[in-house]
Amino acid sequence: MSFSSSVKNELCRVEINNNCCMYSELAAVIRIGGVVNLPDGEGISISITTENAAFARRVFSIAKSIFNVYPQVIIRKGKKLKKHTSYIVVISSSLGVHEFLDNIGLNLQIANNPKANDKLCKLDFPRMDICCKRAYLRGAFLAGGSISDPEKTYHLEITNHSMESALEVCSLMKDFGLNPKIIKRKSSFITYLKEGEDLVDFLNVTGAHAALLEMENVRIIKEMRNNVNRLVNCETANLDKTVNASVRHIENIKYISEYIGFGKLPKGLREIAELRLKYRDASLKELGEMLDPPLGKSGVNHRLRKLDRIAQQDRELKGEKK
Ligand SMILES: [Zn+2]
Repeated sequence: MSFSSSVKNELCRVEINNNCCMYSELAAVIRIGGVVNLPDGEGISISITTENAAFARRVFSIAKSIFNVYPQVIIRKGKKLKKHTSYIVVISSSLGVHEFLDNIGLNLQIANNPKANDKLCKLDFPRMDICCKRAYLRGAFLAGGSISDPEKTYHLEITNHSMESALEVCSLMKDFGLNPKIIKRKSSFITYLKEGEDLVDFLNVTGAHAALLEMENVRIIKEMRNNVNRLVNCETANLDKTVNASVRHIENIKYISEYIGFGKLPKGLREIAELRLKYRDASLKELGEMLDPPLGKSGVNHRLRKLDRIAQQDRELKGEKK
């Protein structure tokens, strides 16, 4: 099961006790995932189509609680290869759609407007209770949302039919300190979150606590992996530096032995030059310990740098003569 599906299944199990929150969640579901069917003799109806059985059950039971009547559920089996089953929950006008829409602050003016969905007016978001804001975001995600597998990337989005709806979801998310953005994709308006922190907060706000823990685990593992990689890269870089320095020292010492002669070096430099050539894999610390009296790492480094300079100066001198 995808992470998205498991989040939705968990959200469908979130208990909802207040009437206000039921209204709010259903309002989001209708606004984002609902289709308003125009009158066909029986008056208007609203239908919500989903492939998620748990979500269909939740819409059914919330609508039943609110209207005290059973909504109609149509089950549509997929054809041949497409085995997906769709569930269509229909809330018809006989169940009091108009009253419901009035109650949640949605007004339908369908008199002579075929695009009834566009006429769903704004909910009074600023005056909503915090519990209802959570419920609205939960409904919005259930009806039009998806979230990426956190192993891959951090992305959560809710698809809206209108810019207005996208902005509403946006402003509710902001009420919880999230940083949503909006992008237009074909005829849809997507409200999305990109930060891992925001995704965790969204799961918390909407009540998907098991998914939240799962995501936090992935984040911790990812972070640890990054830290380990950073450490390994750092060590490798240091090792490269050491190896490069060692190669340079040996080249310069060979140059001195060939063109200047070890005999011309002071005793301290000659000793370290000979040791460096003989023990190529030894660290500076080890080289220092071979000396009598022993010398610290920085002392060894100092002498090797002096040898570098001697070789370099001799090269430049010879270069000038040519
Ligand atoms: Zn509420």
